[in-house]
Amino acid sequence: MRFVVIGGGPAGLRAASTAARLGAEVVVVERDVVGGAANLWDCIPSKAMIATGALVSRAQRAELLGLGPLTPQVDLKALSLRVRELEDRLAASMTQQLESQGVRIVNGSARLRGPHSVEVAVPGERAETLDADAVLLSTGSSPRIPAWAEIDGECVLNTRQAYPPPVIPEHLVVIGSGVTGVEFVHMFSSVGSAVTLIVSRQQVLPAKDPEVAAALEADFLARGVRLCIGARAVGIDRSKDGVAVRCDDGRVVHGSHALICIGSVPCSEGLGLESAGVTLNAGGYVPVNHHCQTNIAHIYAAGDLSGRLPLASVAAVQGHKVAEHVMGLHTRQHRHLDYDKAASAIFTEPEIADVGLAEAEAFALGRKIRVTKVPYAANARALIDGDSRGFVKVVSDPATGVVLGGSIVGKHAAELVSIIALAVTANLRVIDLAESLFVHPALAEALAEAAE
Ligand SMILES: Cc1cc2nc3c(=O)[nH]c(=O)nc-3n(C[C@H](O)[C@H](O)[C@H](O)COP(=O)(O)OP(=O)(O)OC[C@H]3O[C@@H](n4cnc5c(N)ncnc54)[C@H](O)[C@@H]3O)c2cc1C
Repeated sequence: MRFVVIGGGPAGLRAASTAARLGAEVVVVERDVVGGAANLWDCIPSKAMIATGALVSRAQRAELLGLGPLTPQVDLKALSLRVRELEDRLAASMTQQLESQGVRIVNGSARLRGPHSVEVAVPGERAETLDADAVLLSTGSSPRIPAWAEIDGECVLNTRQAYPPPVIPEHLVVIGSGVTGVEFVHMFSSVGSAVTLIVSRQQVLPAKDPEVAAALEADFLARGVRLCIGARAVGIDRSKDGVAVRCDDGRVVHGSHALICIGSVPCSEGLGLESAGVTLNAGGYVPVNHHCQTNIAHIYAAGDLSGRLPLASVAAVQGHKVAEHVMGLHTRQHRHLDYDKAASAIFTEPEIADVGLAEAEAFALGRKIRVTKVPYAANARALIDGDSRGFVKVVSDPATGVVLGGSIVGKHAAELVSIIALAVTANLRVIDLAESLFVHPALAEALAEAAE
């Protein structure tokens, strides 16, 4: 089986690794860096900088833990270096792992030349043609830039220019209050920037449980973040003092820098899809079935390009499923991916994570549920650590006790939610959580209590 993967992000790399393990002859074509946008611009740099911000904010609370006042200074140069080193290290270890499995990695730009042919343009060399029995399109997405904004990489930035930032902005105006926007607000306010967030709806994180969004808004306000609620940005003017962001209701927000976080667009242009007959939807995504097959059976799409949940974690599992399907394993042991059961996290302070059915969603569907909630303030570990902001909420079926979902706001929410994710995936009941013998003192005890 000759399997060609176009795009070496989480979807492509996981597919390549699984297919190689199952005996395929695999080539990965990556035009930039092994690890993809996830490694170079998105997940890794953002979380690395958030880790630094977390230490700063922990130091600011040092007196709570019996220490004298600590006032850490952010060293932007050292921070940038650390982020780059992390990316390099991850890219090197992924490359080494794939090569040790026999995967060939080609640094170049690929496009389809027909249903079974991929052309690779390598800078300074003659184009190479690869024959393929199966192809995976995993080229990801890039930041959406509105027509009214001119990105200059200095004062008006997109998400790929802000990690690491050229300077720590004196006053950053963040446009867009989805997951990416609020993480940037958190990160920059932690390292000393004044921040204003432009929120086009009536709450930050419009897709999330209102109680969860309210907890984050409260934290933002407590640390001096200004929220410009119900305003849609329509233009940005630059001046010698910085930027002025114009909103549709007439408000103008002044700052030193503006950062645009209004989502992403799929990287489907220039891929030669028409030569193989692969169709796109109106948004430019490549629609796929539950095996991640496009309308052409041996051509697959996974990750952000497939228009499903744009998460690195989901992309990697899709990649794994694609490899199993390519190698014919699905006939024996396939289980469809259930995107409704994907856990996701927002690395703010407090951290936010959820999985499965949310309370507000159940209410909107008119579905009967049982919701139990335990505040972090009732948990010994949270009190010991001097940070008892947040809560754990478990959603279950009142008739059967089966866990349907949950939300966590508070320290280590992104780790803890995996326990609920496992319960949701395995159809465990609340009693299974409540009677698990967790460690004491541990934050996980709040989960067991919420399940009682
Ligand atoms: C700021 C930010 C933070 C995020 N943080 C998280 C997080 O914490 N957790 C999480 O799960 N998700 C996070 N995401 C989402 C996550 O980054 C994406 O869902 C994930 O990167 C998608 O993976 P992918 O494999 O589809 O593509 P990508 O990671 O985008 O990789 C695609 C690769 O394809 C290459 N490519 C494109 N075209 C070609 C071509 N023609 N030839 C060869 N190569 C090509 C690109 O160079 C790129 O390397 C974040 C997103 C953003 C914007």
